[in-house]
Amino acid sequence: MQTSRSTHRTAATSGSGEPADAALVASRLADLHVEARTELDHRDAVELLVATVLSAQTTDVRVNQVTPELFSRWPDPAALAEAEEAAVAEVVRPLGMGPTRARRIISLAQGLVTRHEGQVPDDQAALEALPGVGRKTAHVVRGAWFGHSLLAVDTHVGRLSRRLGWTARTDPRKVEEDVVARMEADGTGADAEELTVLSLRLILHGRRVCTARAPRCGQCVLVDHCPQVGLA
Ligand code: SF4
Repeated sequence: MQTSRSTHRTAATSGSGEPADAALVASRLADLHVEARTELDHRDAVELLVATVLSAQTTDVRVNQVTPELFSRWPDPAALAEAEEAAVAEVVRPLGMGPTRARRIISLAQGLVTRHEGQVPDDQAALEALPGVGRKTAHVVRGAWFGHSLLAVDTHVGRLSRRLGWTARTDPRKVEEDVVARMEADGTGADAEELTVLSLRLILHGRRVCTARAPRCGQCVLVDHCPQVGLA
């Protein structure tokens, strides 16, 4: 850890305490992470919704390892709604909490069938009313599948937003408010999908560079504008 921090300081040119310019961050992350897309494999909105619900407390890589069999055996909400819980639990068992995850996605499928004719609604309130779906999941699906501009605040987006000085808060809803306000103040965030692609790129950057325990400031394209360089 000590070695890593020394490297950060050598590379540091900011650390001013001033929030990073949101437009500049968006532009640099766009150059670095050109293809902004979710790393959850999916072929339609239902698969994206189910995969996103399954991704709670695990990684996208692990989810991608179980969804091919899951979607092959129960290929639509009608099939999943009728599935035997123990059979689904066995398929999602590698993610941990197999029975809980199985109940969650079966209930979700039942909600889709009974309330939305097996379709994923492009409606924030309707999505959040479904079992297991919160604001972040609804934003992921509406942003990545339906093309809306929505910030999905997960652990990476929250951490980077705090390190970049855009917020000091930890509640995801408050983080979202602060980041959206920051983007508007810095003259970005107005275009279609802008918040969606920003959150996808912040997630990629959080996984690959600005990691929770050992941020690689010396390799970071934001190093000259980050108030937390070497301090995170
Ligand atoms: S790795 Fe994180 S803390 Fe370090 S400069 Fe980049 S954004 Fe800032």
